[in-house]
Amino acid sequence: NDFTKLGLILPLLETLKQIGHKRPSEIQEQTIPQILDGKDVLIASQTGSGKTAAFVLPILQKISEYETDYNPKVLILEPTRELAMQTASVCRQLGRRLPLKTRVICGGVPKEQQVKSLSEGVDIIVATHGRLLDLVVQGQIILEDLKFLVLDEADRLLDEDFAESMNALVPYFPDYHPQTVFCSATLPAPVMALAQKVTRNPVRVEV
Ligand code: AMP
Repeated sequence: NDFTKLGLILPLLETLKQIGHKRPSEIQEQTIPQILDGKDVLIASQTGSGKTAAFVLPILQKISEYETDYNPKVLILEPTRELAMQTASVCRQLGRRLPLKTRVICGGVPKEQQVKSLSEGVDIIVATHGRLLDLVVQGQIILEDLKFLVLDEADRLLDEDFAESMNALVPYFPDYHPQTVFCSATLPAPVMALAQKVTRNPVRVEV
């Protein structure tokens, strides 16, 4: 039972081998084929289960077919700056054999610096909602071409500020529904309500 059977392409398989991930975790086994197949996925799992690679690997594969552009194809929302940086480093590590650019957009860093980093083109933005909204409203980030939206650790995203940012971001999202991955350690009613709002017929993966 290895990564080959999940339908991953050679550059990803070689990277996995190189970094020593010998076989997929249960969550990866269940999630990767579904995302490759174009499905929305609702992942209920604790950190430590390998859930980050579970959504990053198939997303890297699917966007590697497109050229790098100024408009991001993937938006990953994280509750904190630290998690944003961690997830971005997973994207870079797993994507190192693919010509993809990952940028972190979060508070606490000069805006000008972030805007400049985007001017070289970007495939994946890993962001916290406040600074993202700021740059989207300014027109520095255009979300019209998003193919993937990920809400990571969604149970930790649930506060009023986040709800406000999401509402404000809605008009800037594409007219079509980007393929969406929703991750949460737990799924209490308010988290499920958000999941139902952002996903369409999601496949539920629970480990
Ligand atoms: P996560 O649950 O995404 O926070 O990942 C937990 C840890 O598991 C990270 O340090 C990963 O590098 C590691 N990991 C993820 N997938 C695998 C795998 N298939 N084999 C071994 N380690 C893995």
